[in-house]
Amino acid sequence: MKNPLNIPLASLKQGQNKLTFRLQARDLELRPREIAENPSFEFFVGPVNVALVITRTGLRLLVTGSVSYRARLECAICACEYEWDFDEPVTAEFLSCDEEPEEPGRMPERDDGGGLHGNWLDLLPMVRDAIHLAVPIAPRCRPDCRGLCGECGADLNKGPCECVPTGTVRARGE
Ligand SMILES: [Zn+2]
Ligand SMILES: [Zn+2]
Repeated sequence: MKNPLNIPLASLKQGQNKLTFRLQARDLELRPREIAENPSFEFFVGPVNVALVITRTGLRLLVTGSVSYRARLECAICACEYEWDFDEPVTAEFLSCDEEPEEPGRMPERDDGGGLHGNWLDLLPMVRDAIHLAVPIAPRCRPDCRGLCGECGADLNKGPCECVPTGTVRARGE
């Protein structure tokens, strides 16, 4: 599988290089189950947009940018499914060795978590990490989600249920 985020160093000029990628989930080699605890999740809704500026100063490569995408989550409080727009900043720094002669057609060995491999800069692990770190531990469909009634299971975001909490007895429909 071709990794679009494996960038040949030869394509990066000194100074700023602006790169944008529009990726599908399969490009990221991510399994939705890897990220979401609920196996029924279809995590991504639409593409994953990666906007990067790679600043090359001598042997130094500074990567900044953002990873943005829409994802489907399940609220930890009321169990509803909702969609959320993520826009995660990324930053990383690499130090290249003196450039080796190009060997066209030869892909580098994938021996570790990415970064620099010979004449290639692999930013896929950085993007994957940003997505992993952004997954909320206890997603909330909204900050004030009221959750479900412990008695009848009604979704309290849609209004009060028939159960009467002790201590707050009020006539309904007043
Ligand atoms: Zn909720
Ligand atoms: Zn209830």
